[in-house]
Amino acid sequence: ELFVIVAKESGYLEKLNQLSEQKKLDSFSYLQQFYQRLKSFEQRSEHPVLHAFLLEYTHERDAGEEGSLSVDLESGPDVVRIMTIHASKGLEFKHVFVVNLIDQRFPTNAKNDAIPFPEGLGLEEASEKEAHLEEERRLFYVAMTRAKKGLYLTSAEDYGGARKRKISRFLLELGFDPPQSHPQEFELFDEDLGPLEASSETTVKFAIPKQFSFTQLAAFRSCPLQYKFAHILKVPVMGKWTFSYGKTMHNTLQEFFSVWLARSETSDAVPVTLKELEEIYAHCWQDDWFVNDRQREEYRSQGLASLKNFYKKTKKNPPKPHSIEQPFTIKLGDVVLKGRIDRMDHFEGGVEIIDYKTGKPKTAKTISKEDKEQLLLYQLAVRDVLGLNPTRLTYHYLEDNSQVSFLGTGEQLLALQDSIIERVQDIRASKFDPTPGFHCSFCDFADICEFRQS
Ligand code: SF4
Repeated sequence: ELFVIVAKESGYLEKLNQLSEQKKLDSFSYLQQFYQRLKSFEQRSEHPVLHAFLLEYTHERDAGEEGSLSVDLESGPDVVRIMTIHASKGLEFKHVFVVNLIDQRFPTNAKNDAIPFPEGLGLEEASEKEAHLEEERRLFYVAMTRAKKGLYLTSAEDYGGARKRKISRFLLELGFDPPQSHPQEFELFDEDLGPLEASSETTVKFAIPKQFSFTQLAAFRSCPLQYKFAHILKVPVMGKWTFSYGKTMHNTLQEFFSVWLARSETSDAVPVTLKELEEIYAHCWQDDWFVNDRQREEYRSQGLASLKNFYKKTKKNPPKPHSIEQPFTIKLGDVVLKGRIDRMDHFEGGVEIIDYKTGKPKTAKTISKEDKEQLLLYQLAVRDVLGLNPTRLTYHYLEDNSQVSFLGTGEQLLALQDSIIERVQDIRASKFDPTPGFHCSFCDFADICEFRQS
């Protein structure tokens, strides 16, 4: 919390946001890694205070830890990695340089065994040399096949010393013409490799997620720039009490229905007592991020009252739970989406898909087309991935235990698919233009966003 406050209030986040695209991407990535480091300290430390963190940090540095920053080779920044061919096995790089391609360096001379085999047991000298050469040739093949776009093989006559160096036999085998003493290019790939790309604003490549969630796509729909801040640059943000409260309520109901399903799948009565529900709520409660003690206690009471009311209604009209927290992965075109369904009940020969909401309740009149998208996506997944028959979609508002139910038409489901694919295409094309509006007042990045609407 302190870290985010300092980064925000000092204007540091805003400053980073004014950098060039590539620098911004790198800087936010490093900041995010430091933030994760702090968070992991906070979780495992018995005394998660600044002084203890600085002490641990100092000890690590004194012990020689220089701190490594992970770099995504696909998204940049551009880096040169120097490694042995053995270490490169299984990896791929945009451009690969294999250097020192001269005789006795690559391939190297075969070394004699440190402890020679007794005569008659080891390989003959000639076949030993041949085996070594084959091993070196395999290594050369490994090195060449690490390149995705460009492969550069270098050799020279002069590496210092009086002796002129002879070119590697591997280059000769590839058809390189040794009499030429100036650099020579020959093609190993069909396509023209072209020059190495210079780093510029136009070549900034963002690491686009391979999978998406509904929440991410909803953020993109609301404001593409907001999506970029949250999911591409991963600008650190403060936690929210609304998340703590929402998580508490979701976890409580998840556990309540887990017990229900474990005890009875067929009974018409509620197989869990109110007291048990209250106990589950007590141990699921999350204290974090409330503004003050008063607010926290207010919400604790409100949550309990909502759950009591929920229990009363459930007892009066017990549902037939089918499953809880059902995960799914669905592919729409080439877009992979992952999600989790709060609850499904048996309903009219199929399943009712239920999603809990802790926000302000909506009605059939006030619910918007965008609000419905989440359950429509679940309808698609339940039908196409889980092979079940969705017969009703329901948002359950826990504040007053009201519900809004509907079912998507074929036309609505098709429109949703198209809209999701289109959004992901825009994300992949890095179209992160801001769409300021009323939602800026709830945006986590309003402080650093020059386009915010007040
Ligand atoms: S402040 Fe407004 S315009 Fe800026 S990122 Fe947030 S929602 Fe988008």
